[in-house]
Amino acid sequence: MSRDDFTAATKRSLALRASHHCSLCKISTVGPSDEKPNAVTMIGKAAHICAASSGPGARRYDPAMTRAQRSDISNGIWLCANCADLVDKDEIRFTADILRRAKIEHEQSRRAGNISAQGDGDIIAIGSSIISVGSVLRTGPAGTRIQLSHFVEGNGRDLFSFAEGFDRLIEEDRYILLSELGYGNRLAGTPLVERVNGFLEVEFVLREHLTRSSATSNVCTICARTGRLISGMDAFVQNFERTLGMARGTWFANLKGGSDLSDLYWRYKNSPWFARLAMKEMIRLSCLPSFRRDAKENATPLACVNRVNRVEVPAFDLVDQHLSIEVEFDIEGLGTWAGNLYVFISTPKQLEESRATAKLHADRIVEIEMASKAR
Ligand SMILES: [Zn+2]
Repeated sequence: MSRDDFTAATKRSLALRASHHCSLCKISTVGPSDEKPNAVTMIGKAAHICAASSGPGARRYDPAMTRAQRSDISNGIWLCANCADLVDKDEIRFTADILRRAKIEHEQSRRAGNISAQGDGDIIAIGSSIISVGSVLRTGPAGTRIQLSHFVEGNGRDLFSFAEGFDRLIEEDRYILLSELGYGNRLAGTPLVERVNGFLEVEFVLREHLTRSSATSNVCTICARTGRLISGMDAFVQNFERTLGMARGTWFANLKGGSDLSDLYWRYKNSPWFARLAMKEMIRLSCLPSFRRDAKENATPLACVNRVNRVEVPAFDLVDQHLSIEVEFDIEGLGTWAGNLYVFISTPKQLEESRATAKLHADRIVEIEMASKAR
């Protein structure tokens, strides 16, 4: 019996189009082997959707197909060894149609530059130095449990240190932000970190939700563009834009305050990561108090935002040094609000200069304070 097998080139294309992940169970089919420093373990297979040959054991064999069609890439699907075995034992569960659909969906999800191809879930920030991709397993009165799929910044060791040294962390660093839920908060106590089925999981209790200022309260301000008096939502939009456009460390009165959007823009420009990290940043600014010495205990920089539902950046071009960002927020007293924010993006040179100036002013104030105390 002749088998209409795939050529080596077809197998290679199938593996690459699946980005070396099984189209059914999604596990990686290639990775390092411990046998030699340059050794690779491969468990992937170019499986036939309709069997390569007829006869006993052949699954989904289609006599109407030509030999060329049987060995064509359209009749192949990239699978791990386990799944390849499984689909060749059960043609009731794995029909040709089901396999074709699984193949298309899988290849779509693995497009180059696609974030979801890099792990499942949304951005989770744990303190100021750990950013991970992961998902919420459960949340309720007893706390929240999350599973991390991979780290964007920091690593597992940093995570264990975060929990072990929690009591010694500065107050500003004791927080978790969850993009999937659009909010975050400071932690009520030490989080629990454990490894479950190879994944790191974190269980924690967040502090009580801070009461936000209502967007319906009568806030008036002068419009930066027109010089007119504006109030209500217009005033809040201007506050959002001002808060997001003020880079961290550029204001002498609060060197820790400010937003990281400009820094993120230059680091992640043209990458899908930018919108996700910008969302994390907006959650941070809406949920965590600003820690200003002169601020009221509960004030957050994006004062009236309860949740950040959506952040999209349609284009990275700047107009007059402003970036247009589409957002959807849950706003206290108003409900859902969607709109465009035009956020000032400082150039790397401006960031460097304004940080140096702010630091200089802050140092001078400390000097003056010390001098006046000594007198
Ligand atoms: Zn598999």
